[in-house]
Amino acid sequence: MTVMDAEIRCEDLVRIFTAEGVEVQALQGLNLTVEAGDLVALVGASGSGKSTLLTILSGLDRPTAGAASVAGHDLVTMTPGERQVFRRDTVGFVWQQTARNLLPYLTAVENVTLPMVLGRRRSDRAARRARAAELLDVLGVADVADRRPAELSGGEQQRVAIATAVANGPRVLLADEPTGELDEATSADVLDAIRHVTTELGMTTLIVTHDPAVATHVRRTVRIRDGRTATETLRRTALDEHGHELHVHEEFAVIDRVGRLQLPREFVDALDLRDRVRLGLETDHVRVSSGTQVDAGTGADPGAAPERPPGAAAEPSTPDGLGPTGDHREPEEDA
Ligand code: ADP
Ligand code: MG
Repeated sequence: MTVMDAEIRCEDLVRIFTAEGVEVQALQGLNLTVEAGDLVALVGASGSGKSTLLTILSGLDRPTAGAASVAGHDLVTMTPGERQVFRRDTVGFVWQQTARNLLPYLTAVENVTLPMVLGRRRSDRAARRARAAELLDVLGVADVADRRPAELSGGEQQRVAIATAVANGPRVLLADEPTGELDEATSADVLDAIRHVTTELGMTTLIVTHDPAVATHVRRTVRIRDGRTATETLRRTALDEHGHELHVHEEFAVIDRVGRLQLPREFVDALDLRDRVRLGLETDHVRVSSGTQVDAGTGADPGAAPERPPGAAAEPSTPDGLGPTGDHREPEEDA
């Protein structure tokens, strides 16, 4: 097994589905790293590959190419037997469809107890029941322990589902749109419950959602577009001028190991970027401009661009200001 230290790691992950002779590239070289103990939201339009990724991470499906590991288990080379144990003990999952998470004829506490019967930790009936009651309590649904799923609200069902998913103490919790069928207020409560249980049990959690509001509940939001990681939004706490705490969200483009990044569609459209673009290396940024325009005065000089972003405007060219080929000086008019 390759050395993969992060709790979740995907490298150049590809998943191609072939249905009736038509190939669908659900994942097209996706990269993702989630550190132990982190809670990360994965967002993206419908069809962008979110469920495909989660199905692979949960050990239900295999990638077509690329590398993936969860909690030190290599998902590509895992044997069927290892896969079964992995799915039982290492990862927990919560699905969007509330009905898929719980058995309808068992009460909440019986649903939570069930995975422990098969789990790696040998425990007696009383111990299992005690742990189930404790988990229901952590998730704020202790009072509905003896009800069946049909007698629970959607939010309660998902909380019980989370308790069931973490019953065997998994290192990683995967949730595919766990709030997709819930209203806004209930969604917020369930997301808070996931955050709470992640910290409480020391897990690593990846939540898929199409709800942009989720970013306010997590430190890190990863956006996938067309089967690739496109941007990340990090939330940090800052102080305003009155000394009050405020949450700052900053969106970053993701650059992979070999330097590839995806430009936002709005940027591509705004400058009509197509087929090829010019790149220029500045002292503190990289310039991307339309490949069709010819810059006045410098001819085919790839380093010349008509405009500069604010903030870099007054910066004089430095003797070591190198262009993309490393042998290029800043054009005169930039100085
Ligand atoms: P998301 O969860 O982001 O909505 P999915 O991962 O479900 O996206 O799907 C990504 C793409 O892969 C879609 O185009 C979808 O139609 C396709 N896809 C997903 N699963 C299969 C499958 N089993 N067979 C064929 N195509 C699939
Ligand atoms: Mg999906």
